Amino acid sequence: MLLFNPKKYNRHHADEKTKNLMLKTIEFFENKGLKKIKEDDQAAVWYDDFLEFIKKEQAFATLLTPSGYGDPDSRWDMWRIEEFNEILGFYGLCYWYTWQVTILGLGPIWMGQNEEVKHKAAKLLKDGGIFGFGLSEKEHGADIYSTDMMLYPKGDGTYLARGDKYYIGNGNAAALISVFGKMADTGEYVFFVVDTKHPNYECVKKISTSGVRQAYVAEFALHDYPITEADILSRGNHAWDSSLNTVNVGKYELGWASIGICEHAFYEAIDHAANRNLYNMYVTDFPHVKKIFTEAFARLAAMKLFALRACDYMRSANENDRRYLLYNPIQKMKVTMEGEKVIGLLHEVIAARGFEQETYFEMAIRDIGMLPKLEGTTHVNMALVVKFLQNFMFKPKDYPEIPRRDDPANDSFLFNQGPTKGLGSIQFHDYRKAYEGIRSKNLEVFMEQIEAFKNFLIKGTPDEKQTKNIDYMLTVGELFTLIPYTQLICENKKIYNVEDEIIDEIFKFIVSDFSAYATRLYTGQKNNR
Ligand SMILES: Cc1cc2nc3c(=O)[nH]c(=O)nc-3n(C[C@H](O)[C@H](O)[C@H](O)COP(=O)(O)OP(=O)(O)OC[C@H]3O[C@@H](n4cnc5c(N)ncnc54)[C@H](O)[C@@H]3O)c2cc1C
Repeated sequence: MLLFNPKKYNRHHADEKTKNLMLKTIEFFENKGLKKIKEDDQAAVWYDDFLEFIKKEQAFATLLTPSGYGDPDSRWDMWRIEEFNEILGFYGLCYWYTWQVTILGLGPIWMGQNEEVKHKAAKLLKDGGIFGFGLSEKEHGADIYSTDMMLYPKGDGTYLARGDKYYIGNGNAAALISVFGKMADTGEYVFFVVDTKHPNYECVKKISTSGVRQAYVAEFALHDYPITEADILSRGNHAWDSSLNTVNVGKYELGWASIGICEHAFYEAIDHAANRNLYNMYVTDFPHVKKIFTEAFARLAAMKLFALRACDYMRSANENDRRYLLYNPIQKMKVTMEGEKVIGLLHEVIAARGFEQETYFEMAIRDIGMLPKLEGTTHVNMALVVKFLQNFMFKPKDYPEIPRRDDPANDSFLFNQGPTKGLGSIQFHDYRKAYEGIRSKNLEVFMEQIEAFKNFLIKGTPDEKQTKNIDYMLTVGELFTLIPYTQLICENKKIYNVEDEIIDEIFKFIVSDFSAYATRLYTGQKNNR
C-alpha cells in the first residue's frame, strides 16, 4: 500500500485527532467532487469553502502551531505535515499552495525572537487565518541579496516600510505576511510582519498563472507602512538565516505535493486505459503501455520512499546532525522533477483524454511543472547539493541509527536551525550500508556505476575552473544525486518491507538515468583525464 488511497486510508497516526483531521479533509474533497473542483479551477475563484473548512476543523491551527503556543494537541510534527501536503496535492495544487505559503509565512515568525507576534500568530491561526511569505521581488528573482524592500528609520525608534514584492501567495487575504527587507540606513537584513488589511498595504494585482489558478499570487506594495519593534521578527544574520531556514522546511513540502499529484493522475490514467478497448484489446494489455505504467509506478514509489525517509532525517536533525540539508534540496529538485517525468509517462497513455477540462489530469499537466521552479529553481538546489559531494563520497562517519519517525514530537529544531553556513563540513553515514542485503541485478549494475563515478572523481577531479562552471557541476550533480536518492530509498525498503521486484524496477530506471547523465557529461563537457 505505497500509494495514498482515499478509499482505503491506512496511514498510522499517533493520535485519533490527527487521523480524524486527515479523514475529514479527504471527506471534504470527496464531497466537493472532481466536477466542482474543476469548475472552480477553471473559474479561478478564491477557495472560501476550503478556508471555511480549515477554520471549522482547526486544521492549520492544529498542524502549524508549535507546542506551547496553541491547544495541547497542536505541534509542529513533520510526519503529519507531510501527509497533509500529499492529500492537498492529490486533490488540487491550488489548495496545497495556500497551506504551503502559510507554512512559509509562519517560518520567520516561529524562528524569530518576537514572542508577542508568535502568540498573535497562534491566535490568528485559531481564527482561521492564513499567512504569506514576502521574499521575492520582480527585478531580483533568486538573488535575494539585492532586495529593494526598505525600512526607513523615523528617528523615534519606529520605521516606514517602502517597497514592492512579487509572486507572493495569499497576498490578498493573509492575516500576516512575513516580509524580508533591509534597513535603509545600515543595509542590515530584517524580517517584519505586515497586515494585508492595513491602509498602507496595497495588493497591486493578482498575477494569473497557468497552474494554481485559484490561488492568489500577488504583487503587493508597502507605501510608508508604519513598523514598530513589535512588528520586527529578526535582524541581521538572524533574518538572513530565517529566510534560508524557512525555505529549507518549505522546499521539503514541494516533493509531497508532487507525489500527491502523481498518485491521483496515476489512478485516473490506469482507470481510463483499463476501460478503453482498441483493436479488440484493452489499452492496459498493450506491452508498451504495461512498460510505461511499470516505470511510472517505479518512479512514483521511489519518490515516496525517498520523501518518507528524508522526513526521518529532518525530524531527527540537531546541531550535530545536519544531513537533512542534503536530503531536503534533493526532495525539492529531484522528487519534483521525477514528478514531471511520471506525468509525462502517464500522459503518453491517457493521451487525448488528459487534455479534457473535466479530468484531474488536465490540471496535473499544468501544475506539476511549477513545483521544480518554486522556492529556488532546480539549478539553485543542485548548486547546493554539490557542496556535499566530497564528504558524502569520501568521508563517511558513523551516526546513531535513525528509526521511522512517526512519533508525536514537536520538531522544534526546525525553528532553531542556526547559521546556514558550513555545508561543506557536514558528514554523512556510509551510503554503501543502505544497499547491503538487497537482491537486485539492477542494483549490482548501479554499484558498478558508482565505482566508475568515484574513479572519475579521483582521477579526473573537477578543477577550479570546472567547479566554478555551474553547467559542468549541474551534470556532475545529477550523477551524484542518484546516490543519496537511492540510499534513502533502500533504507526505506527495509523499514517498509518493500518487495524486491519493486526495488529492482526502481534500479532499472536509475541505471538508465545514470547512463544518460554520464553520456551528457562525457560528450557535453571538457573533462580532465
Ligand atoms: C506561482 C508562484 C508562486 C510563488 N510564490 C512565492 C511566495 O509566496 N513568496 C515568495 O517569496 N516567492 C514566491 N514565488 C517566487 C519564486 O520563489 C521564484 O520564482 C524563485 O525565487 C525564482 O525566481 P525566478 O523564477 O524569477 O527566476 P530567476 O531568479 O530570474 O532565475 C533565472 C534563471 O537563473 C538561474 N539562477 C538564478 N540564480 C542562480 C544561482 N545562484 N545558481 C544557479 N542558477 C541560478 C535560475 O535557475 C533560472 O534558470 C512564486 C513564484 C510563482 C511562479
